[in-house]
Amino acid sequence: MTAIETRPALAEHGVAATYRAAVVHDFAEPLLVEEVPRLPLGPGQVRVRVEATGLCHTDIHAAHGDWPVKPAPPFVPGHEGVGIVVELGAGVTEVAIGDRVAMPWLGYACGTCDYCVSGWETLCLEQKNMGYSIDGGFGEYATAYARYVVKVPEGIDPFDAAPLTCAGVTTYKAVKVAGTRSSDLVAVFGVGGLGHMAIQYARIAGGRVVAVDLIDEKLELARELGAEFTVNAAKEDPVAAIQALGGADQAIALAVSPRSFEQAFGTLRRGGTLVFVALPADNAVTVPIFETVLNGITIVGSIVGTRTDLREVFELHAAGRTTVHREVRPLAEVNQAIEDVEAGRVAARVVFQP
Ligand SMILES: [Zn+2]
Ligand SMILES: [Zn+2]
Repeated sequence: MTAIETRPALAEHGVAATYRAAVVHDFAEPLLVEEVPRLPLGPGQVRVRVEATGLCHTDIHAAHGDWPVKPAPPFVPGHEGVGIVVELGAGVTEVAIGDRVAMPWLGYACGTCDYCVSGWETLCLEQKNMGYSIDGGFGEYATAYARYVVKVPEGIDPFDAAPLTCAGVTTYKAVKVAGTRSSDLVAVFGVGGLGHMAIQYARIAGGRVVAVDLIDEKLELARELGAEFTVNAAKEDPVAAIQALGGADQAIALAVSPRSFEQAFGTLRRGGTLVFVALPADNAVTVPIFETVLNGITIVGSIVGTRTDLREVFELHAAGRTTVHREVRPLAEVNQAIEDVEAGRVAARVVFQP
């Protein structure tokens, strides 16, 4: 594309021919914050000026190429991008210029398969994922599919909306899948970006919450957010502690350690449900068959949430029913932030300002 071709677009939308983004070039190397070309929009796509973009553990796994299905470098991570629509591709009717939208993990789905039409678009085999199979929100701008962005209601701070776009919707869905009802005891394993939201959604569903983590400050946050009990798994056995409470009706595994999944299993009472959410790099857990059968245990995986789930998450937040704990950092500090998250030095969610 020549400079002459790009000038009218620049004048019209205020979007330069290039913009800054954090790019993964090599799984073994830090991200590079560099200028990337502004590509023309395809049909159904929108360009979004990113205001806020959260750092999820999935972005770190993506940047390291930790999982069996790997992204293809170079790519831009980020699936908690929130910003303003500044340009519309051909045929876009779902959003308008000036709308504030969220760009979640489910960046695209086919819309017609059995999964899509039955409310399980998150299982669509044709799906594309922001920050993984398509470029994500770690930039001044991002390109998204208009049908798969979700409008952010008036009154929600974009720096709150960003963590809600993955950490929020993922745990909201996990609590839905868990089937939490009033009087249930819900064990939340891992009080990070996801866990601090899971506690709140379990409470909204009517459950009593026991939060498990290895770090006392995170357990303090858990109590502030409504956890009735906390267990520091570095100091006491969460299985014994939670069984002493009568056992958990549901346990939600959010910590990236297979050991914590096994502990979560052990905390369940008979008939209990274990929800797998976190995706440890070490991709295996050991679960006893005998106890699973005799105790009638359900184990279920839960992956992010649908657009409807995210709309509900935003509705709850706009109604003042949830609190997002996050700290804002410049996108230029992306590598430091990843180190800090990996070292457990971050109390809740890091949200980048591009
Ligand atoms: Zn995520
Ligand atoms: Zn589909």
